[in-house]
Amino acid sequence: MAAGGEQGGGALVLVATPIGNLGDLSPRAVEALRSADVIACEDTRHSGKLLHHAGIAPRRLVAVHAHNEAEQAERLVEEMRAGVRLAVITDAGTPGISDPGERLVAAAVAAGVAVETVPGPSAVIAALVVSGLPTGRFCFEGFLPRKGRERTDRLAVLAGETRTTVLYEAPHRIGVTLHDLLDACGGERRIVIARELTKRFEEVWRGTVTEAGEWASAVAARGEFVLVLEGAAPARVTAAEVDEALRRHLAAGESTRDAVAAVAAGLSVPKRQVYAAALRLER
Ligand code: SAM
Repeated sequence: MAAGGEQGGGALVLVATPIGNLGDLSPRAVEALRSADVIACEDTRHSGKLLHHAGIAPRRLVAVHAHNEAEQAERLVEEMRAGVRLAVITDAGTPGISDPGERLVAAAVAAGVAVETVPGPSAVIAALVVSGLPTGRFCFEGFLPRKGRERTDRLAVLAGETRTTVLYEAPHRIGVTLHDLLDACGGERRIVIARELTKRFEEVWRGTVTEAGEWASAVAARGEFVLVLEGAAPARVTAAEVDEALRRHLAAGESTRDAVAAVAAGLSVPKRQVYAAALRLER
């Protein structure tokens, strides 16, 4: 039963599939799907087409989507414990990234079932790397909450986020999200809109948040979009603020070393700068 399992054991295999261009389905992905006992997918008709294109006749195809992942996970974990190799794919990209997969992985890990990955396309990484914005540190927000306090709070956090931020958005909400980003972060920050990546009408638009709003209202928002937002400029901390924080930590009995470390981390200031201030205060 456990075809492909090296020790005959079951496993959960997360298989990335194309985000548009079918040429991005890797040979390893094909092999993993061909050798799986069961393939879990969001939509059996949609994935059936991909499998057909790759010449794969699945042994068993099951639907696992946002609405049934929890119950399916319980049942499928039992099958994997009994030796089944389960491959998971979604409609596009990497399972578990704004798509089903996370719960299955958590359930497999909890049950001691091996989890493997066949990495490949994901819109978050594809958009980040073409954006031209800093890639060394970034954060992924997926889809913003649709409304209410949750959305406002998340936007407020983004306003202060210094790392490049990647967001997914549906075409009919791109205008409202750009408008809210303008309100929360101001219009000056750079933003990149990666649209229909790897597909025929791929486009990578670059400009400021203000210009993006104008762009979105001028074009028909069709297709799939990723927004890559420049991080906020780090807040400028004055020497007096560093001194004041250091005095507080030292007065609380901390060693110079601990106080410097705490202030540097707390104010996001280089340690060297805080050490210099500590030496000055100790003189
Ligand atoms: N699991 C997928 C991944 O790894 O990228 C993401 C699935 S999420 C439900 C779908 C969102 O991903 C879309 O709304 C869009 O924001 C983004 N996306 C997927 N394919 C894309 C593409 N070809 N170009 C731009 N964005 C894409």
